[in-house]
Amino acid sequence: MTAVLPTVPFLDLDHVNGQVRAELDAAWRGVLAHGGFIGGPEVSRFEAEFARFCGVEHCVGVANGTDALELVLAALGIGRGDEVVVPANTFVATAEAVAAVGAHPRFVDVRPDTLLVDPDAVADAVGPATAAVIGVHLYGQMADTDRLTAVAERYGLAYLEDAAQAHGADDLGRRAGSTGVAAAFSFYPGKNLGALGDGGAVTTRDAALADRVRRLGNHGRSARDRHSHTDRGRNSRLDTLQAAVLSAKLPRLDEQNDARRAAARAYRDLLPETCTPVAVRAGARSVHHLAVVQVADRARAADALTRAGIGWGVHYPVPCHRQPAFAPPGGAAGPPVLPVTEAAADRILSLPMSPSLRAADVAAVCDVLRVAL
Ligand SMILES: *Cc1c(COP(=O)(O)O)cnc(C)c1O
Repeated sequence: MTAVLPTVPFLDLDHVNGQVRAELDAAWRGVLAHGGFIGGPEVSRFEAEFARFCGVEHCVGVANGTDALELVLAALGIGRGDEVVVPANTFVATAEAVAAVGAHPRFVDVRPDTLLVDPDAVADAVGPATAAVIGVHLYGQMADTDRLTAVAERYGLAYLEDAAQAHGADDLGRRAGSTGVAAAFSFYPGKNLGALGDGGAVTTRDAALADRVRRLGNHGRSARDRHSHTDRGRNSRLDTLQAAVLSAKLPRLDEQNDARRAAARAYRDLLPETCTPVAVRAGARSVHHLAVVQVADRARAADALTRAGIGWGVHYPVPCHRQPAFAPPGGAAGPPVLPVTEAAADRILSLPMSPSLRAADVAAVCDVLRVAL
């Protein structure tokens, strides 16, 4: 008889959603009963809860995380002729939002240990057209708040947070979503706080900015008269049903993030020397959206994981500035222009990470890697 192979899913969403099955049933019945599928009371309730969770005054629910970024940029008047500094190592949505308002994403390199945007590279990239910088809190860890806000202040830029992977993370006690002019969150099902479909939110301390975002995402409609369209807006709203789901799940998020931190500690203790986990800066508390390591022979590691029934991913194999949609013409095959990002793209490997991941699962993953490498 052959030994039973360990099966560790990349992300165990059934567990997370199963914990709140009773609350979800009640929430859906409630929305069905009142029938306010758009803009129902569950939306403002969740907005208030999530604003409190992030430590800010205002939260505006929108349709997804990409829209959250785009609506903030539009509400700030950023558009054609403007440049926005963006790390090249991020999900492509960060750059898409910049392009969607007609601005130019100016890609910069990341730090070799955290793989987060390098504040020195941001400062070097600032030019006369630079209007904003987006700090992406990638893999669950906040970008370097102190240094990025200092650069933004020195050059008069808006500092925005892409917090789509960092619900509940903090940096020297300041929560993700509370450190920029505004922040964008995604509630895509696999994020640390996930809906059962698409969803997103903007958080900010600025009441006027929150109002503008809300208006732009609701057809530019005036708050006083629904038939008066004061702005050229669009439709990007958080569904009532998804808001109800998110309110059911939010109370468990801090506990789930703690469980992810415990799993990350286990990885740190048990990983072979050939796998280097991304570093967490002193004073920062990651919520470990992803468990990313750097490994020289990724193909070999990934193949061994697949054969052992262990889930894995790569976030992201092709950096934004090398994507056909964003690369300058003819630039895709040239020499490295952002050497840290490009070297990391060939070495990064995302290992299983879920709030339900046990130390024994982590040990099984690390054993497979140790034998393979
Ligand atoms: C998921 C994600 C987004 C986009 O969110 P959607 O809700 O999928 O539109 C933006 N930025 C980052 C870093 C993300 O991980």
